[in-house]
Amino acid sequence: MTTANKTHKVTLIPGDGIGPEITEAMKSVIEASGVSIDWEVQQAGEAALEATGELLPESVLESIRRNKVALKGPLTTPIGHGFRSLNVTLRKELDLYTNIRPAQSFHGTGARYDGVDIVLFRENTEDLYAGIEFEKGSEGVRRIAEIVEEMGAGTIREDAGLSLKPISVFGTRRIMKAAMDYAVANGRKKVTIIHKANIMKHTDGLYLKVCREVAAEYAEIAPEIEVDDLIVDFACTRLVTNPERFDVLVCPNLFGDIVSDLCAGLVGGLGLAPGANIGDDCALFEPVHGSAPSYAGQNLSNPTALILSAVMMLRHLGEQCAAERVHKAIAEVIEEGKVITYDLMRMREGTTDGSSGTKEYAAAIVAKLQN
Ligand code: NAD
Repeated sequence: MTTANKTHKVTLIPGDGIGPEITEAMKSVIEASGVSIDWEVQQAGEAALEATGELLPESVLESIRRNKVALKGPLTTPIGHGFRSLNVTLRKELDLYTNIRPAQSFHGTGARYDGVDIVLFRENTEDLYAGIEFEKGSEGVRRIAEIVEEMGAGTIREDAGLSLKPISVFGTRRIMKAAMDYAVANGRKKVTIIHKANIMKHTDGLYLKVCREVAAEYAEIAPEIEVDDLIVDFACTRLVTNPERFDVLVCPNLFGDIVSDLCAGLVGGLGLAPGANIGDDCALFEPVHGSAPSYAGQNLSNPTALILSAVMMLRHLGEQCAAERVHKAIAEVIEEGKVITYDLMRMREGTTDGSSGTKEYAAAIVAKLQN
């Protein structure tokens, strides 16, 4: 069942490298789900740079602001030309402050663990990702070093570069509230705050304090949800020894980035890791992985992470039934293991022999949906 007669308009950014081919695969699956989507295709990244001279044309942001919902393939950020990460820019421009990265096991992947069901909330706008950086030898480093020394806060070597780590009450409150609201709405049992408050008292320490305050506000309305916290390094140990201990995680930006890749590894790698970036006005869905340029155009890549990102988008659009059907179809194809991409075959059988291409894998999912 789908939302009766409703066509959803969605901005679609196919992206660079493997982006266009996994996007075609994703579109075929979503079409087979029966949901009507009017894709407004926009180019960003290398594709846009070639066509318009800009990596992120204003028209892309306008399209997302207009449609409120976007689905995006991976973008290549050219190295060494002073380009800021496009993904970071998109998240900041649209104030997409909540990054949700689920890591859920599928039976039959051959991944090291089964039964993992973790949903990681990553703060998306602050921390060392805020992009406040000063180059070695710059006026910025010199002036900050002066202030730091004057205030007796320490010394910064002349030949150092600097990145600032702002963490605010405002930014922390809203990510913790997003994680708690998700836990309440989805019947989750536990929210674990990840931090390094023992070392960075005024950033992670503040983050932990504010997260605990928010948790206390939820204690009355959602007493069934347990909230605990773990220092990030120990959390990594526990994640690889007892991943089933975890439910919802809430992390500052940088730890969220790293720990979510770790979680993706628990369930079978980047080919299976979807993501959502949510703000108060807009939502942008995208896989965790990058553009894997060496695999581009070879019909080899796994489109599951992008399809699962589209499943998250369907839920956001209120198309719950279609979302469940697509998820189930993917699970069946992976469990059968007959038509799977090279990364899944390697994990399952230890060899890529007998693996299928991106198109064939998507066609197997489509066939399940049409059954
Ligand atoms: P990557 O995720 O593109 O690739 C790392 C490796 O993971 C690949 O070599 C491949 O072995 C595997 N892999 C990734 N996606 C896969 C898929 N769908 N199916 C099968 N295997 C897959 O990371 P990278 O090589 O560090 O980055 C390449 C480019 O992507 C860089 O320009 C980087 O800036 C960009 N990037 C973009 C995003 C994004 O758009 N959200 C995220 C990360 C990296």
